[in-house]
Amino acid sequence: MARKNPNIVITGTPGVGKTTHAEQLAQSLGFRHVSVNQIVKDEGFHEGRDEKLGSWVVDEDKLLDYLEATNLSETGGVILDWHACELFPERWIDLVIVLRCDSTVLYDRLTARGYKDKKLEENMDSEIMQVLLDEARESYREEIVVELRSDKDGDVEGNIERVEMWVDQWRKDHAGEE
Ligand code: ADP
Repeated sequence: MARKNPNIVITGTPGVGKTTHAEQLAQSLGFRHVSVNQIVKDEGFHEGRDEKLGSWVVDEDKLLDYLEATNLSETGGVILDWHACELFPERWIDLVIVLRCDSTVLYDRLTARGYKDKKLEENMDSEIMQVLLDEARESYREEIVVELRSDKDGDVEGNIERVEMWVDQWRKDHAGEE
């Protein structure tokens, strides 16, 4: 059966604003915000931490099985928030939002979060080299990948409005599908 609502991935380097956008969008659209990092932590879908990078070494098979069991591909209406995206099967996903941020702004956000040394450096490099944007473009059809700025407060509002309009259009385009 075709899903009645789209599934959206929000991705980008840590600190770009994924959680901020995902929470607001989930609220305004009535969608479910799935914080993948939180699931990895809560459910123990990892093989410990990479101490240098300060991130989890994720057990991708367990994570995927867990997400599959939520039936998101049939129900739709899910916002997947994660600093990676290639893992999610294409058939689950209708829109991939890659948030981008100016490097000086990101530097301030990450240092405020206590990132330093290698962890700070790797994430700054990742944003400057647009690693997540390239990953999204390599993993999904070009027309479902959008790059949005998240430098200032007004960007969030503008982005939310834009995604709401896109969801409206998606619903119209898919109305009546069984
Ligand atoms: P992520 O989930 O990608 O790690 P967060 O949503 O947690 O990012 O945002 C990191 C920090 O930056 C938070 O303090 C948040 O309030 C701030 N922030 C995110 N996006 C914006 C924006 N567009 N304008 C101003 N502050 C932002």
